[in-house]
Amino acid sequence: MPELPEVETVRRGLEPAMDGARFAKVDVHRGDLRWPLPKDFKERLQGKTVTGLGRRAKYLLADLSSGDVLLMHLGMSGSFHVFREAGVKKLARFYHEREKHATHDHVVFHMSSGAVVTFNDPRRFGSMKIVPRGKLDYEPLLSRLGPEPLGNAFDAAMLAAACTGKKTSLKAALLDQRVVAGIGNIYACEALHRALLSPKRIASTIASKSGAPNERAERLVDSIKAVLNDAIKAGGSSLRDHKRPDGDLGYFQHHFRVYDREGERCVTPRCPGIVKRIVQNGRSTFYCPICQK
Ligand SMILES: [Zn+2]
Repeated sequence: MPELPEVETVRRGLEPAMDGARFAKVDVHRGDLRWPLPKDFKERLQGKTVTGLGRRAKYLLADLSSGDVLLMHLGMSGSFHVFREAGVKKLARFYHEREKHATHDHVVFHMSSGAVVTFNDPRRFGSMKIVPRGKLDYEPLLSRLGPEPLGNAFDAAMLAAACTGKKTSLKAALLDQRVVAGIGNIYACEALHRALLSPKRIASTIASKSGAPNERAERLVDSIKAVLNDAIKAGGSSLRDHKRPDGDLGYFQHHFRVYDREGERCVTPRCPGIVKRIVQNGRSTFYCPICQK
């Protein structure tokens, strides 16, 4: 499932095609995504201009000239692809790729920029919703989300306060979207390794009894930000390397320190540890039992 850095990479890939452009035509091939698309979906988009493309946790938010906001979520297997009307057929490889995926292109945006943006989702756990900007604060999909991990407001004090009294593991706390938004299994494992903190540690141990942050909370917040920023940077360079305005999703595996590396050497300098896999709350956790304490 895409996590915050992948969604941010998609946002950056879509921005040149969508920001400032008008929805010239919208095609819906399948409206039964995770939830059915609203009946007036096309009408509320066609003719409207995208005035900004933002992100909140794993949601993309396209601000429209009408005062509506188009909310988009990739779900488990969703991806956006950007094509140029004029260029598609000249490039065999791109064309082939387009053909291959076309049966799962549920929603297609023809933008006034000349870009064709397709939303492809074989498993249909993705979703789109249109919400008036003024009602966004009450939107249930967003209103319960915790702080943005890359926002200035997210610091050790905030994370410690959210973990105070929590008897769950630190790993479970990081996956709780009310504690911090947008982090999933992969980056939770990676951040904990970078912070040299055990995923099994009780969450409340990063705060004093009164809820003040200790040095572990400082380290964990720094690690979360570093892990996410590195992944966004890798996503950005992968977008550039493809030399196409393509929001194709991909994890940047060469950057993983513990995730999916069971049995391999720990990369912490001078640590003799071997990466171990355990199951926590039904999901795999990868960590080093030597240096993560
Ligand atoms: Zn280690």
